[in-house]
Amino acid sequence: MPESYKKDVIRVDYRTGKKILFSSVRNNKPDDFYHISGDNWESDISKCPFEYGKEALNKTIKLVGGDEHSWKLKVIENKFPMLSPEFDFIPLEGLLEEKPAFGYCEVIFETPIHNLRFSQLGKEEYLRWLDTIIERENELYSRDRIKYVYVFKNEGPRSGASLSHTHSQIISFEEVPETIKDEQKKISEFIDSNHACLYEQILNYEKERVLVENNTFIAFAPFGSKMSSESLIMPKRHVNYVGLLSSEEKSDFVDILSKIIKTNEALFGKISYNILFHEVKDDETFIFMLRYAPEL
Ligand SMILES: [Zn+2]
Ligand SMILES: [Zn+2]
Repeated sequence: MPESYKKDVIRVDYRTGKKILFSSVRNNKPDDFYHISGDNWESDISKCPFEYGKEALNKTIKLVGGDEHSWKLKVIENKFPMLSPEFDFIPLEGLLEEKPAFGYCEVIFETPIHNLRFSQLGKEEYLRWLDTIIERENELYSRDRIKYVYVFKNEGPRSGASLSHTHSQIISFEEVPETIKDEQKKISEFIDSNHACLYEQILNYEKERVLVENNTFIAFAPFGSKMSSESLIMPKRHVNYVGLLSSEEKSDFVDILSKIIKTNEALFGKISYNILFHEVKDDETFIFMLRYAPEL
């Protein structure tokens, strides 16, 4: 198999027994569309394959709000996926185990307008984005063998995004990632020894670090931040996955998210950032959270 067609594989670390997603595909992505000078990034619309009428260049999963010349949001299959929809074990010797990482990769374009940043979208667009995520998650979870769906957004050239047209990604796996399993273990240990819900405690612990809140959602700068300026957005009601949010909660959630993004841009300018969904669909002890992590 030529190197450039290699997908990611799952390897087992024989020291820990943990499964690791081993990547080989990232270096083969097409040229970045960004032209970066200092903190400014711009890109060439004529090279963007996601504009109106260019549907033949991609495999469209869904158009929302119109046809190929008028859609307001679209979902496509990722042309350069990390995961493979084919499934074969590769026998390796001794302790070494490897198999293709199975799954599906989709990309959501939240606006047809090429040079809009995510922060410039309006409430209608944020809600359409959220409803599409929920719909795609439900559809992916209904497929055989899909055990975990991960949603994230890389915005800006320093976020790891290789496309400049604002977009989110949905990756589905046949196994729950090890980091999530570790967290599930910690949650159940906490419940066993404290007879209380860890996440309801978080709301108390993080009181001093609250950035903004409304009726049903709260955002705080977590005590144990992985990165400075990171924000966590959490529902006040214990909800383990985004599909369980009520319409009031969805509305409050996008209000807080847009406030966090806009405030960060007002403070730091046109920054790159990651938005990461944190959720587990079939584990009620887990809690839905969204991590906003700017590259400062
Ligand atoms: Zn574009
Ligand atoms: Zn709880």
